Amino acid sequence: MSGYPDTYYSRTLNDAARRPALEKNLSADVVIVGGGLAGLTAGYELARAGRSVVILEAHQVGWGASGRNGGFVGPGFATGHSNIARMVGEERARALHRLSIEGVEIVKDNLLKFAHDDNPQVYGKLSVLRYHDPDGLARQRDVLARDFGYDVSVLPTEAVRALLRTSKYYQALYDPACFHFHPLNYARSLATAIEASGGRIFEGSPAVAYDPSAGRKTIRTKNGSVSARDVVFAGGGYTDSLVPAIRRSLLPIATYVLLTDDAKGRIEDAVRTPMAISDNRRAGDYYRLVDGGRRLLWGGRITTRTTEPRRLARMMRGTMVSTYPQLEGVEVDVAWTGLMAYPRHLMPLIGQLEPGAWYVTGFGGRGMNTTAIGGRVVAEGILGRTDRYRMFEPFGLAWNGGPFGVAAAQLTYWHYQMTDRIKERRAASRTER
Ligand SMILES: Cc1cc2nc3c(=O)[nH]c(=O)nc-3n(C[C@H](O)[C@H](O)[C@H](O)COP(=O)(O)OP(=O)(O)OC[C@H]3O[C@@H](n4cnc5c(N)ncnc54)[C@H](O)[C@@H]3O)c2cc1C
Repeated sequence: MSGYPDTYYSRTLNDAARRPALEKNLSADVVIVGGGLAGLTAGYELARAGRSVVILEAHQVGWGASGRNGGFVGPGFATGHSNIARMVGEERARALHRLSIEGVEIVKDNLLKFAHDDNPQVYGKLSVLRYHDPDGLARQRDVLARDFGYDVSVLPTEAVRALLRTSKYYQALYDPACFHFHPLNYARSLATAIEASGGRIFEGSPAVAYDPSAGRKTIRTKNGSVSARDVVFAGGGYTDSLVPAIRRSLLPIATYVLLTDDAKGRIEDAVRTPMAISDNRRAGDYYRLVDGGRRLLWGGRITTRTTEPRRLARMMRGTMVSTYPQLEGVEVDVAWTGLMAYPRHLMPLIGQLEPGAWYVTGFGGRGMNTTAIGGRVVAEGILGRTDRYRMFEPFGLAWNGGPFGVAAAQLTYWHYQMTDRIKERRAASRTER
């Protein structure tokens, strides 16, 4: 029995073996708190550079957001380019976007190196509009080609609707370099690769105390401790108050996914492509076929309420059927929630609390590529190879606003939902006229 929540991914694991808990006092070069993709990527980069690494995970590796997400891997951050440029200027925003493209390459390379056969990738992503705006998409395409040499194309409405049988969609941006995969199998294969390079991973080992006082940093669990020159905090949306300054800088935001029952024929008839699909609403829908097209994996919605809603499956099915009414009656096999970590500025938190005490978190809803770059730049910093982690200095540990921050985030989301609906209604009435 694995200790993972019941999800599509935990049902289709390559291996579910558990690792032991920490029961003694150890010494290492680096101790990492959190076995999600941020902690695992940092651990992998450090272990293969010859550092002794210990990872402490409260549950099992990939138990958090990293093992229960949509599995979409593409460039970008949890907030858009214009917002980033407003905070740091156009040139630095472009450098950050290039780094986010590197994040996709890191995942691709790692999959090639150690998980190729176990984790098939399906290439291609359609970002669909829920209103008519071919010119806006053409502008985005041109900017990506001009500034980043990144090729995407615009699909007209007829082509989109031939693939996705819904009248809700208009044009789409087609990105052939994005892909989707099995994130939990990837996390577990990273863990195996770390161990193959001499790293040690302890599961069921929540870090309960942090002591930076004696020069070396010490992390304690219930029955053991690790002292190290460097410590990396990578607790994502599950970050507790081990280091209050990090916890205070994050808002845990919940989001939901469902897996439908096997409905061969009906599902393939509605969604006629194996590519990753997402719509253009803020926190909109994203989905993809799984099990050879017999089922849909559908994600969407965000909330500051971190407990599971009572009628989660019904609520998510309603979201799916509102886009594809022909899927009325297709039942939900399993639905689940996951927590993402959102800083107030919506950009990753990557840096040092003090020399040797690193944090790498706050990836929001765009974590597959950004945890890869976060893990890598922190490892480069620890190894003294680059100071690329400083690219994230402008986005510091800003207070999340406490209960006011939670309320403000929920209000902002509702406001976004409302403005998205108004935009769609206006577009629909323009089309009818
Ligand atoms: C439902 C959902 C769908 C998503 N879809 C996508 C997508 O399709 N594409 C994309 O790019 N991003 C997606 N995301 C976002 C992405 O999954 C996250 O940004 C990313 O996985 C965060 O990784 P992480 O390592 O920072 O955190 P996590 O994966 O949450 O890992 C943190 C780990 O730290 C552990 N931990 C916390 N505190 C302690 C402690 N004190 N001691 C020991 N261990 C501790 C936790 O148990 C956890 O395992 C999605 C997120 C969710 C929830």
